[in-house]
Amino acid sequence: MTTQTRPFEAEVAQVLHLVTHSLYSHKEIFLRELISNASDACDKLRFQSLSEPDLLAGQPELRIDVSFDRDARTVTITDTGIGMSRDEVIANIGSIASSGTRRFLEALEGGQKADARLIGQFGVGFYSAFVVADQVTVLTRQAGAEPEAGIQWQSDGRGEYTIADAVVAERGTTVILHLKADEDEFLDAWKLRSLIGKYSDHIAFPIRMPKQAMESEDGDNNPADAAIEWEVVNDASALWAKPKSEISDEDYQNFYKSLGHDFNDAAAWSHNRVEGNQSFTTLLYIPSQPPFDLMMGGRDERKGLKLYIKRVFVMDAAEELLPNYLRFVRGVVDSDDLPLNVSREILQHNRQLERIKGACVKRVLDLIEKLSRDEPEKFAAFLKAFGNTLKEGIVEDHGNRERIAKLLRFASTQGEADAQTISLDDYIGRMAGDQTTIWYITADGYKAAAGSPQLEAFRAKNIEVLLMFDRIDEWMLGHLNEYAGKPLKNVAKGELPLEEAEKQQQEQATQAAAPLLEKLKSLLGERVADVRVSARLTDSPSCLALSDHEMAPHLARLLREAGQAVPDSKPTLEINPQHALLKKIEGERDEARAGDLAAVLLEQAEIAAGAPLADPAAFVQRMNRLLVD
Ligand code: ADP
Repeated sequence: MTTQTRPFEAEVAQVLHLVTHSLYSHKEIFLRELISNASDACDKLRFQSLSEPDLLAGQPELRIDVSFDRDARTVTITDTGIGMSRDEVIANIGSIASSGTRRFLEALEGGQKADARLIGQFGVGFYSAFVVADQVTVLTRQAGAEPEAGIQWQSDGRGEYTIADAVVAERGTTVILHLKADEDEFLDAWKLRSLIGKYSDHIAFPIRMPKQAMESEDGDNNPADAAIEWEVVNDASALWAKPKSEISDEDYQNFYKSLGHDFNDAAAWSHNRVEGNQSFTTLLYIPSQPPFDLMMGGRDERKGLKLYIKRVFVMDAAEELLPNYLRFVRGVVDSDDLPLNVSREILQHNRQLERIKGACVKRVLDLIEKLSRDEPEKFAAFLKAFGNTLKEGIVEDHGNRERIAKLLRFASTQGEADAQTISLDDYIGRMAGDQTTIWYITADGYKAAAGSPQLEAFRAKNIEVLLMFDRIDEWMLGHLNEYAGKPLKNVAKGELPLEEAEKQQQEQATQAAAPLLEKLKSLLGERVADVRVSARLTDSPSCLALSDHEMAPHLARLLREAGQAVPDSKPTLEINPQHALLKKIEGERDEARAGDLAAVLLEQAEIAAGAPLADPAAFVQRMNRLLVD
């Protein structure tokens, strides 16, 4: 086949544009990204060669070479990894295979600002080459293929690329960057070497640079020159396999950055070796910022936890090694005992892996607990970034429910404004002697929660109520019925537990209001399930009360908006007969006017609970009739 010119997929052009503009202040990361791709390619080949040793024929070594040519203004990265076929080149480099990237672009179109952090966190990988290069050439030959089956890919990163057959002497991939005019700083052995030392020291394959280049006067180290002596410039050992005492914090952070494709430091990490009838090493990191697609991404997007078996990379196995609610964790698990020919299907039902998974969960929860104890600021940042993800664990991980609940923080009627800083233990510590229940309310936002009429009686009695206003809270609370032996209850649901004296009062009030209740029931008719006298209200005229298993109106609205079927349920209206509005309704002889007032009484309770108005136009007309009268 001759040379073909093809357009990039539309999204690639967009990504290229964003990357080259946004990464400008971090342009040196191109080297880390390309070396990381080269390392992945070596990992893949090493794993495949276990079952197909012939793939290594002629070139047993797996390594990465970095060189430059000052005259030609090129930097070249060569690996002896798995290489790519023609179709793979087109699929991997000419288009955007990952749906995570698509989502990223959709989000950008949705108005999110493209900043370097965001871009760095979804791993632009190969395209970062165009930050420093105005022409990129890829020569690649798949492991097991003949030299004649090589492929040359070339592009200036402006919408098109060419692809052609080529004779490629060695297995693997070579990426040649033709540097832009003002990128001379990378045509320097010491610069490249120090970048490798900084970002890629613990790549587990040798990274080599030409030795003479460091010493030669003219700096020319074109690898095509004869008699090049290569020198390994990285540590080339698996970081996690070293004893902790030999690893500095900086080593850990740099390893994290190349592993997690993150610009930022990790917030914390945990490095452990388990010996016994099953031996394995875990090195787990908590990022300091959420990766871009954490909240939107489904399980299929999960990368970042790599499974090694005896130092050999086997696969990205975040799904197999961690429950979904810990999907923000990055790291490495290296098992001594799993069979190397393990497949994803086998992993899913593997006892040994279950044990490793259990250990990973424990380590991560230990790590978060440690943060909560020792580093309050980092812990607060962690909750901000991942708190809502962690809450999924209440639903997903029954066995650790109590541990997870202990880590959560909420706003409360006794807290500082909307700060979500109060733990369930704090709450319990402040409970009055006779209080047995942990009270909370859920709403759409802090103000809606803090202003709920249902809180009035609790305020009057000085009982603290936790204010929950994250979208996931209602769902989570459906699975968190008790903590530390204390039931959790929603102040808007069911009957309030009243003392004897209060009960009598309540009964008397209900009797006294009997005609009013009847009047309201007949005025509101089909719109309500029931009308009753409230024990919750002191100041407001009305509120909604939910039965124990009824969904909060604001959540029902959200789910409907998201296109889910939610069963209709009629609200129960609670009233405060002492309120002037109720007195007015009671005394109103004009049937139509009484009807308007009753409707407004119900509608304001619905609005406060975050329910949508069934008929906004009718509501407005009603309000106007009442205001003008
Ligand atoms: P990512 O590494 O996040 O998947 P990249 O844009 O860096 O994204 O690379 C896209 C794909 O191209 C890789 O997943 C890999 O399949 C392929 N690729 C990139 N570099 C190499 C290489 N040196 N050898 C083999 N395949 C490569």
